Amino acid sequence: MTSLSSASKIVSMNNSPYIYLANNLAIDFVNTVLNQHEEVTDLLQSNSDLSLWAHGAGLNIDTQLESFNLMTALELRTAFKDSFTAKINNHKIPKKSLETVNKHLLNHSVQQILHLENNCYVLQAKNKKLTFSKFLGYLAHEAATLLASPQAEQVKRCCNENCILIFLDTSRSHKRRWCSMDICGNRAKAAKHYKKIQS
Ligand SMILES: [Zn+2]
Repeated sequence: MTSLSSASKIVSMNNSPYIYLANNLAIDFVNTVLNQHEEVTDLLQSNSDLSLWAHGAGLNIDTQLESFNLMTALELRTAFKDSFTAKINNHKIPKKSLETVNKHLLNHSVQQILHLENNCYVLQAKNKKLTFSKFLGYLAHEAATLLASPQAEQVKRCCNENCILIFLDTSRSHKRRWCSMDICGNRAKAAKHYKKIQS
């Protein structure tokens, strides 16, 4: 049994290390920083990493039209992380994060289509090739739409205390506990089982 919604997926495209299991692209973007082998790892180290992440998310950044600025993308990622963390902790979103999200929200002009995926209707960018600023504007829109909706209450941190991944719990029962059963759920189950044998 998996606690993931059917729309969730773990993508391993071209041996890509990126995971898309959060049910929201802005959260997936935050999850590019993860705890691997007890070490916090940032998977976005270069422009090509960013391009690969976008590709895995079903988007392409058109580098012919506009140059990348990795730092700008990472600044937005930090704003997302601080905003969602504030939401999880029932705090107000820090003013600086709100300003950063709003700045990029102005660049949101991506047309979307309603699309059926694994029995769920999801909104997707109509044009998959985006300029860099439109790409960030699109992500800002993903974050802002969620933060402004009642669904924001269902943004959660994985219950594995060594895991820093967050996700939107879209399960009917709102009882999703793990980023994914494969990554943390089974590990927790195995640890519980081991403890039982030991006692
Ligand atoms: Zn986890």
